[in-house]
Amino acid sequence: AQNGSVRKRGPNILVTGTPGTGKTTTSSALAEATQLRHIIIGDLVKEKNLHDGWDDKLDCYVINEDLVCDELEDLMEEGGNIVDYHGCDFFPERWFDRVVVLQTDNTVLYDRLSRRGYTGSKLSNNIECEIFQVLFQEAKESYPEDIVVALKSDTIEDISRNVASLTDWVGSWHPAS
Ligand code: ADP
Ligand code: MN
Repeated sequence: AQNGSVRKRGPNILVTGTPGTGKTTTSSALAEATQLRHIIIGDLVKEKNLHDGWDDKLDCYVINEDLVCDELEDLMEEGGNIVDYHGCDFFPERWFDRVVVLQTDNTVLYDRLSRRGYTGSKLSNNIECEIFQVLFQEAKESYPEDIVVALKSDTIEDISRNVASLTDWVGSWHPAS
């Protein structure tokens, strides 16, 4: 690298999508195949208290986006991370080399989220989020078009194919010089 900048140890990939689309399953398999570091933002927020309390209405922690970004800055600069979160508009654009948006058929997603115990507005809000492609729109508005990719995640075969193609992409990735 020139001008004293440090070459990244690998690409940074954001895996996003509506809850239940398979982010954690896909990211875990990809981390295993590539030796990239899997960062589950929801777990990090809980472990390090990077939140402003519990939202009773939404039934989740109120994530503190500034604290999360501060916590991750050094790791992201180092490179080689898979970031797993159902949101993408508050991370610095420069962090990511690839943004993967997982997408699932509504009826398939409905069953997955019901099985996870989601009911009522928590269930319907997430189904609506998927129908209106909220995360795909958010990704396209937040990152350069050519690094955003939407991948279908309906079946186990989809996961295998997505992990294989992303593993290939990681293998051919070169740091910008
Ligand atoms: P997310 O992290 O996006 O909330 P998970 O990876 O936790 O989603 O997956 C939610 C549930 O759906 C899990 O039980 C997982 O096994 C299942 N699942 C996720 N993606 C798929 C898929 N493409 N095909 C079949 N089952 C899937
Ligand atoms: Mn998850």
